[in-house]
Amino acid sequence: MDIESILLPGIAPERPLVIAGPCSAETEEQVMTTAAALADKGIRIFRAGIWKPRTKPGGFEGIGVEGLAWLKRVKRETGMYVSTEVATAKHVFESLKAGIDMLWIGARTTANPFAMQEIADALQGVDIPVLVKNPVNPDLELWIGAVERIYNAGLHRIAVIHRGFSSSDKNIYRNMPQWHIPIELRRRIPSLPIICDPSHIGGKRELIASLSQQAMDLGFDGLIIESHCNPDCAWSDAAQQITPDVLDYILNLLVIRKETQSTEPLSQLRKQIDECDNNLMQILGKRMRISREIGLFKKEHDMTVLQTGRYSEILDKRGIQGVEMGMDAEFVKKVFEAIHEESVRQQLMC
Ligand code: PEP
Ligand code: MN
Repeated sequence: MDIESILLPGIAPERPLVIAGPCSAETEEQVMTTAAALADKGIRIFRAGIWKPRTKPGGFEGIGVEGLAWLKRVKRETGMYVSTEVATAKHVFESLKAGIDMLWIGARTTANPFAMQEIADALQGVDIPVLVKNPVNPDLELWIGAVERIYNAGLHRIAVIHRGFSSSDKNIYRNMPQWHIPIELRRRIPSLPIICDPSHIGGKRELIASLSQQAMDLGFDGLIIESHCNPDCAWSDAAQQITPDVLDYILNLLVIRKETQSTEPLSQLRKQIDECDNNLMQILGKRMRISREIGLFKKEHDMTVLQTGRYSEILDKRGIQGVEMGMDAEFVKKVFEAIHEESVRQQLMC
C-alpha cells in the first residue's frame, strides 16, 4: 500500500510510517527540544497534544491554542510535518488556522457520533489527512462509522490508529490490543492504512518495542509513538513515553518482513489449514446434532435446557486440556463459551 499518496507528500512509502512526539505540548522549550532531537533521528512527522481529554478534571488538560504557535515553530525550524488531536469544531478551526499538517481524532471522540459529525462538518471540503483512533470500546462498526463521517465530508486522506481497547479484565496492557479488530477492519477496507499506537496500548515504555514488532508482523503501515525529551517528568502519560534516543534504538531493531507472496511451502501449509478448518466444521456440525438430540431428550423428560454443573465441567476440563496443548486458557474459554451458546440456542429451538 502506498501510504505516501494517501497521507503526506514526500514521506517515504516504506513501512513503517513513523509519527513521534510528546503526549502533550507542555512548554515551548520541551516541544522544541523534543522536536529537534526527533528531527535529528530522521523522524518526519511530529505529534503533540494541545487539547488533552482527561478521564478526571483537575489533571493537565492541555496548553491550548498557545501551543499551536510552538508547533508552527517546529514546522519552520525542523521541516517536520506537525500533527495534533482535535475533538471539537473549534479545535479544527484553530488547527487549520495554525497550518497544522495532519489531525488525529482521539479514542473518546471516535466513540461519540455527535462529536464525530461536528468535526466532519468543520472539515467539510478541507484537504487535510485525518487519522481516526479506534473508539475506547471494542466496537468495529463505531470505528468504521467515524471514518465514514470524515470520508463523507469529502476527505480522502484518511488512516486509522489502533490504540487498543479499554477492558475491565486485569492484564499487562493499559488498553487491550484485541488485534482481531484491526485485522477485521483491514479485511473490510483493505485500502485504509492502519497505524499502531504501542504507547497507549502498552501504557508502559517496556512494552513499546514488542508491540511495535507485532504490529509490523501483522502488516500495519505505521507507528505513532510518544516521545519526550524528559519522559519521567512528562505532565501526562509519563510511564509510556520514551526519549528520542530510545525511540531511535527501538526503530532500528524492528524487523520489517514483507507480506509474503504465495510460495509453494506456504500454500502447502495453507491447504493443511483448510483441511483442519473443514474437519473442525464437520465436528462442530456433529456436536450440534448430538446437542439437539439431548435437547429433545430434556424436553421429553421436563428438564431445563441449561444444566450449569455440566457447563462448568466442560469449561474446566477443556481449559486444562487446552493449556496442556499450548493454548491460551482465555482463548479456550471463549471457544467453548461460543460453542455452548450455539448449543443452547439449538436446544431451545427443539
Ligand atoms: C493521545 O494520543 O495522546 C491520546 C489522548 O490518545 P487516545 O485517544 O488513544 O487515548
Ligand atoms: Mn498520551
